[in-house]
Amino acid sequence: MANNGFTTTILHSDRRASVEHGAIHKPMHPSAEYAFADARELAAVFQGKAGFTYARQGTPTTAALEQKITQMEEGAGTVSFATGMAALAATFFTLLKAGDHLISGQHIFGNTNSLFGTLAGLGVQISFVDTADVAAVQAAWRPQTRMVFAEALANPGTQIPDMEAIGNWCREKNLVYVLDNTLVTPLLLRGKSVGASLVVNSLSKHIGGHGNALGGAVTDTGLYDWSSYENIAEPYRKGSPTSWGLTQIKKKGLRDMGGTLSSEAAHRIATGAETLSLRMEKACSNALALAQALSQHPKVAKIHYPGLANHPQHQRATQLFGGRYGALMGIELVDEIDVFDFLNRLKVLVLATHLGDNRTLVLPMAHTIYYEMGPQRRAEMGISDNFLRVSIGIEDIADLLADFEQALR
Ligand SMILES: *Cc1c(COP(=O)(O)O)cnc(C)c1O
Repeated sequence: MANNGFTTTILHSDRRASVEHGAIHKPMHPSAEYAFADARELAAVFQGKAGFTYARQGTPTTAALEQKITQMEEGAGTVSFATGMAALAATFFTLLKAGDHLISGQHIFGNTNSLFGTLAGLGVQISFVDTADVAAVQAAWRPQTRMVFAEALANPGTQIPDMEAIGNWCREKNLVYVLDNTLVTPLLLRGKSVGASLVVNSLSKHIGGHGNALGGAVTDTGLYDWSSYENIAEPYRKGSPTSWGLTQIKKKGLRDMGGTLSSEAAHRIATGAETLSLRMEKACSNALALAQALSQHPKVAKIHYPGLANHPQHQRATQLFGGRYGALMGIELVDEIDVFDFLNRLKVLVLATHLGDNRTLVLPMAHTIYYEMGPQRRAEMGISDNFLRVSIGIEDIADLLADFEQALR
């Protein structure tokens, strides 16, 4: 299996991992509890041996999906969660303590920004910096710094951090480097290749891809030496240090906090993941064509898309993402156009929050996800009142172009 390509590996992983009656999909296991014939075996699983006890800590179905995500990221292991936010929350709340300092990108998903507000309320110090430049990250360092967080491609501004330089610096300083890879997907970039310690993917987006299941995952790339991380609790300092971080995330994040992925959702996500590369390639090529056409349009003031030569990190994207630029773009219309009237004229594009769906989705940002934070923080994050987030799907490109054309007219 090791030499097979991305899609072949995903398609055949269930069947090769443990054949149950030759089933090519891992069955959906709804069982809440798992019984044992041998009491010693039961105790061993409670004490850390691989196995299943109670579904809050996972089922054979979620474990099979976790293995697929690990293969995609070429990581050491993965823990799945009910949503991407549950995965992010578990990572920060289980690995950081009051007094610790976290350096985060300033261009991040609105709900992650809100989550950091909660974390700050519990005594974690947070600095928001422009991660496009590693010098800004380095300047924020303090003796209490434990972790650096960035989105591989920022939602919704499409900024791209200097991921490799940040990875090298984190290694030097022995910091945990958490990368949210949701918008890029492991097809375009493996977090490990830029030195990330932990990679978070929202499985609700491109990996599931069909808008019919929520999920999230944290993958340990195997690069960080957890034996040097002070916040790992004593019971998890056992066995290979590579596994300590993920064990703590699983025990405290899943077992204690309970944001568990259901087997039903895991099955849907696993099925969706089979076509990730087909869908993503199509969505990326649609997005590039749309960005190129709209950037010439007189009623469009600005397009934020890494595939355009005028994007500040165009070269970085070309180098890191293998000639694909993702399927998300920011569009700012000229002031004369009323954003709401424009949105109401669209016929093919779906007016909905969410992204990474097969369908093209559009959302005005300032009035929705970024509403709660107020105008000042919005301005810092580069979200103007006429900023539209568009998540490009796999429709026929002519239909997408025509829909924009008629709504702008
Ligand atoms: C959507 C999203 C999340 C949260 O994922 P959910 O599965 O919706 O909870 C986290 N990070 C980024 C970049 C996202 O786009």
